[in-house]
Amino acid sequence: MTWEKGDFLYEGKAKKVWKTGDPKVYIIEYKDHLTAFNAEKKATLEGKGRLNNEISAYLLAHLAARGVPTHFVERIDERHQAVRAVTIIPLEVVVRNVTTGSLCKRLGVEEGMELPRPLLELYLKDDALGDPLVTDDHALLFGWATEEELATLKAITLEVNDLLRALFRDLSIVLVDFKLEFGRTAEGDLVLADEISPDTCRFWDLATGDRLDKDRFRKDLGDVLGAYREIWRRLSTREA
Ligand code: 5GP
Repeated sequence: MTWEKGDFLYEGKAKKVWKTGDPKVYIIEYKDHLTAFNAEKKATLEGKGRLNNEISAYLLAHLAARGVPTHFVERIDERHQAVRAVTIIPLEVVVRNVTTGSLCKRLGVEEGMELPRPLLELYLKDDALGDPLVTDDHALLFGWATEEELATLKAITLEVNDLLRALFRDLSIVLVDFKLEFGRTAEGDLVLADEISPDTCRFWDLATGDRLDKDRFRKDLGDVLGAYREIWRRLSTREA
């Protein structure tokens, strides 16, 4: 199938979105821009968009093949993906398997503790407010999601966590935490949207503890692109 860019819809920090001739399909372009701390820190990293497009396409296809409803249609070329047209639910759904990041800052808990079960958190997707942590009640009372949608997106998120943890464990990578976004199709289906990549996940090498994700940029650890390349190398040479 060939998809052509139609009306420009939206530019985010790491992606651009276009309509296509098919009202049910959008095109996403992965940019080389990298941001952190609510876009206070910015950089352009040539090749990052291509790697995230590859990684995200691989992971979304892996999940879709195992029954997870996603927006993924197909990878078009180095930078572009065709996805189902959705309206994004303004919640960031975060799952944590190991303590780190904002969890440790907010609650003062020790870093690097393996949690006895996955911790699921909701954040309001709002840059101006710095994506604050919210409860189910906030989401329900302010109409960001219905009770049924919350239940569905939580169940999907935990399923994604199980599937991706197993996938990455086989690649000697610990899936520490990650962020998902969901969207509603015109038919009212709730599907996993956005991307799954080293921009949105924390990956720690099982043997060395090396950070293989955007924390290399956040914390100035160096060789950011090398880490993204390493994730793609292990995924793309994986025996399916
Ligand atoms: P934390 O809350 O510790 O900063 O992030 C938890 C996990 O969710 C990390 O894997 C992080 O990459 C991801 N995450 C949280 N918020 C965002 C966001 O606004 N953008 C991106 N790309 N990832 C996020």
